[in-house]
Amino acid sequence: MQSFPVFLSLQDRRALVVGGGDPAARKIELLLAAGAQVSLIAETVGGEIAQLIADGRVCWAGRRFEAEELAGMSIVIVASDDALLQGRVSHAAQVRGVPVNVVDTPALSTFIMPAIVDRGPITIAISTGGMAPALARKLRAEIERALPATIGRLARFAEIFRAQVRRTLDEPRARRLFWDRIFDGRVGELALAGDEIAARRELIRLLDLSRGDSTRSDRAPAQGMVHLVGAGPGDADLLTLKAHRLLQRADVIVYDRLVSPEVLAMARRDAERIFVGKRRGHHAVSQQEINDRLVALARAGKSVVRLKGGDPLVFGRGGEEIEALTAAGIAVEVVPGITAALGCAASAGIPLTHRDHAQACVFVAGHTKDGAMALDWPMLARPRQTVVIYMAAEGLPAIARQLTQHGLPSSTPIALIENGTTERERRIVGTLGTIERQAMRAQLDGPTLCIIGEVVALAATIDREFRFESRIGL
Ligand code: SAH
Repeated sequence: MQSFPVFLSLQDRRALVVGGGDPAARKIELLLAAGAQVSLIAETVGGEIAQLIADGRVCWAGRRFEAEELAGMSIVIVASDDALLQGRVSHAAQVRGVPVNVVDTPALSTFIMPAIVDRGPITIAISTGGMAPALARKLRAEIERALPATIGRLARFAEIFRAQVRRTLDEPRARRLFWDRIFDGRVGELALAGDEIAARRELIRLLDLSRGDSTRSDRAPAQGMVHLVGAGPGDADLLTLKAHRLLQRADVIVYDRLVSPEVLAMARRDAERIFVGKRRGHHAVSQQEINDRLVALARAGKSVVRLKGGDPLVFGRGGEEIEALTAAGIAVEVVPGITAALGCAASAGIPLTHRDHAQACVFVAGHTKDGAMALDWPMLARPRQTVVIYMAAEGLPAIARQLTQHGLPSSTPIALIENGTTERERRIVGTLGTIERQAMRAQLDGPTLCIIGEVVALAATIDREFRFESRIGL
């Protein structure tokens, strides 16, 4: 180990910063965040620091460094390029035993500044022993991605019960097992999702059980929960960080045809996968059956991810699933996803709104519950708006006919985007007058989105090759 890792308590302790530029400002920010009283030595100060001084949060103690400034300091940071000054401060600090860091100069420092992940109160410090700061930053980015943004919430939640758990379980091993169960299980899940009341209730139930004085009903297995997660339009890179994390932790993943294989591949390898979509030649699993399945899985104590294409609450019947789960007393968390309209528009380079062409954008379903298409045609045929139609493939001839009958010129641009954002994406661009024939020729059979309006004509201004490359990250 190159250095000895510790976390310094600086609350209300004094810290000295030498230097007045941007690097000094960054260090001052950190010191203030840790509760230190910051004094500054600098010839001149930049705008940010000047503001902190004006606000009384930093004390500008002088322009020139004198060794006496070190009296009573718990830490010194030198953020100045002046080599002579660096050497003087470092020497003076070491003589007095004050920890000193000279930015980017390990030879003059008695401690190094790690890369930091700050999820208050959880702090993770990363060091490569000064050998590869860029690698430390990369590791930090990876940890940032892996940790839920709300992990701090979990720590604060645990603190509330720390004393009580210690009193109840006096054996350290029992306590350790208990906390493992809390963090890995439903309590952790609930606390991370922000449902503190349910988390508290469940923790107390588990604590009672561990104490061994449970009643019969307490002995029922802990109930799981369901996360209704938006899988986005297909490209796995478009998953949210939260969706990705949940996919890595789920016991069971319930998905349908709209979820792309790329997204499904992001799931934990040994998670159980349940397909509830329509298979060729078979009936679709009914919504009622899906609801019942979700309820049963949660009751069996599973952590369930119900993956839904796009966003779960946009034409996804997510509302019906929430209703059924809530009625059954099961905790639900909704994680939004990128809906097909946004994914396809981005992929095709179609601006959904535009100051010159479309002041509004309407999302409608071309299919309703009973298969009929009772749309408000006069509203949809209004000029200066973009109309996005989900589930439009079958109704396309009727859609084009109705829109022209209600006043849209048959030259109005229209795009059909099939399997948008995936490697299999196909796009057909035409007009209300031509699209029916074009669609027939293309024989679309994947999920297809329809975008209508003047903005569609702007898509051609983006070069296809470039877009493809940017999607695969070249
Ligand atoms: N909840 C989903 C929509 C479900 S309705 C969402 O927010 O995107 C199903 C319809 O969504 C499909 O008929 C199609 O119109 C559209 N759709 C979903 N994914 C798509 C994709 N990758 N490309 C094109 N259309 C898509």
